[in-house]
Amino acid sequence: MSAIGKIVATRLKSSGLIRSQALIAGKWTEAYNASTRDVISRCRMSTKAESVAMKLKSSGLFRSQAVIAGKLTEAYGGHTRAVVSRCRMSTKAENVATRLNSSGLLRSQGLIAGKWTEAYDGKVIEVTNPATGDVVANVPCMGGRETNDAISAAYETFSSWSKTTAAERSKCLRKWYDLLIAHKEELGQLITLEQGKPLKEAIGEVAYGASFIEYFSEEAKRVYGEIIPTPLSDRRLFVLKQPVGVVGVITPWNFPLAMITRKVGPALASGCTVVIKPSELTPLTALAAAELSIQAGIPPGVVNVVMGNAKEIGDALLASTQVRKITFTGSTAVGKKLMAGSANTVKRLSLELGGNAPCIVFDDADLDVAVKGAEKEFKMDAELKYLREELTLLCKTSEEKTSPYSSRDRAKLGTKFRNSGQTCVCANRILVQEGIYDKFASAFSNAVQKLQVGDGFVDGVAQGPLINEAAVQKVEKFVQDAISKGAKVLLGGRRHHLGMTFYEPTVMADINNEMLISREEIFGPVAPLLPFKTEEDAIRLANDTNAGLAAYLFTTNIQRSWRVSEALEYGIVGVNEGLVSTEVAPFGGFKQSGIGREGSKYGMDEYVEVKYVCLGNMHG
Ligand code: NAP
Repeated sequence: MSAIGKIVATRLKSSGLIRSQALIAGKWTEAYNASTRDVISRCRMSTKAESVAMKLKSSGLFRSQAVIAGKLTEAYGGHTRAVVSRCRMSTKAENVATRLNSSGLLRSQGLIAGKWTEAYDGKVIEVTNPATGDVVANVPCMGGRETNDAISAAYETFSSWSKTTAAERSKCLRKWYDLLIAHKEELGQLITLEQGKPLKEAIGEVAYGASFIEYFSEEAKRVYGEIIPTPLSDRRLFVLKQPVGVVGVITPWNFPLAMITRKVGPALASGCTVVIKPSELTPLTALAAAELSIQAGIPPGVVNVVMGNAKEIGDALLASTQVRKITFTGSTAVGKKLMAGSANTVKRLSLELGGNAPCIVFDDADLDVAVKGAEKEFKMDAELKYLREELTLLCKTSEEKTSPYSSRDRAKLGTKFRNSGQTCVCANRILVQEGIYDKFASAFSNAVQKLQVGDGFVDGVAQGPLINEAAVQKVEKFVQDAISKGAKVLLGGRRHHLGMTFYEPTVMADINNEMLISREEIFGPVAPLLPFKTEEDAIRLANDTNAGLAAYLFTTNIQRSWRVSEALEYGIVGVNEGLVSTEVAPFGGFKQSGIGREGSKYGMDEYVEVKYVCLGNMHG
């Protein structure tokens, strides 16, 4: 807090006008359940608080500008801290918001039975731009009651939607895909606005997210059953595949669009209806996608969106017998709660949880394979190619072109620093064989140093802010823990001078597998380097974790690539490739990284029940 702010706050406290508890029956009261405190405290002020604020404003004590030479003054511009920038949005963000508003894509209400809906008690949550602290919009802070209505809408609509033909559902999904692509710029801007990732990366996410809707629009027509050869001549045996029913879709903030489409694409294609709960930090992209689903002709009630009090919404979804499946992407801790909570009504579950990806660089890694091999192996549409080129460009410097480690570095930059390190498949530990460890560390640090940090709307920025203060504090804690146990900071290792939640791209050496940074998901722009001696060591270190989502290895030895791929206890393995996600391949984890797969034909299996039908007495 500024000195002025401190004086004002002290005066207000002594006047008894700053209250931080609710007022129930005349008593100042904490939330009964501490876990709901965050959500409650972000909700709109109560009438009481509002009238206190009004009084303060009219008394002249409620000031939100600095005092310079006796004048109340806004920040002169540039990089502002949250408190200041809340005074007004930056011109850039304002322009984006205005354009989004006029395009009809800036939706700020929930969607229940095809109607845009406020929270029943009028509470709202602020959605902020992590790069500036600007409030982008207020969205409803919904809870159990709204969720139950959304479930009822989805349940009623299920009977008609599940009976539409696969061709009809396919057409709707294709139209939705076309609209998502037609609006990819605006959707990208929305993602940058509420999530912070650089605009080009955000547009790349739109293309990636939309690809699931396109893929499952095609797969809708291929949900084949089976005829089983009968063991008895008067019988005929069939297997039907039918939609599971109403699906509760709970998603995180790091990919505000793609984590939704990966689930909703196959759900709708198979005939299910959905209640989506996006993260309270990034609900606007979900609402814009829902708006486009309506424009695509997907009937009201098929797609419902509620947001707000996560626990209340989650509990309502878990308690309902009408919800037949929960599909969740997020932290392992919340995933475990949902798994336990699903037991009572024995729901189907898909869980995409946290990772702790090792990236193993062997002495024999080929210099050019990382990029060239990727071009051959990875199917990209124009936008994904755009994203890849962008990631590659980030690291293309004249120095690197002459460096023997350029391609490897590039690959790992994409693997490590995408979305400021906030992806579940980000390389969490970079294991480097001893023979090249020192050279690699210095070449890699040189490349990382070139990454430009800043507001995602600024051209050339490769790394945006972290999602919130808690995320920065977690990174700081991990870095400090590693330093205290003997690690060296080669680059970065502290908050960025831009302030807010920006953190310097960081490279750390001499990491071991006992440090917090190796044991847990960093979810920040920190690349820890761990030396290893032999292939066996690398495999042991890589598997020494409860997570099992993605792993990467770089080698030119084909036998080794097979051997190590098979030995890694991970659901996804990238060999000489750092960016492996695609709609046509199964995505999911071993161990505590989850259950089930998303994308590809396997992704559809998660949304269908298998029904065996036996026809008897089939003789004449
Ligand atoms: P999170 O805290 O687990 O939140 C994920 C979602 O769950 C949010 O919508 C959140 O709501 C909601 N939620 C929180 N508590 C809940 C409860 N008690 N009942 C029902 N819903 C609840 O995770 P996050 O911080 O948003 O996302 C980061 C994590 O996601 C990382 O661990 C990352 O590895 C993982 N992730 C995994 C994959 C994958 O494919 N395996 C992909 C992306 C991310 P609010 O945000 O509104 O509180």
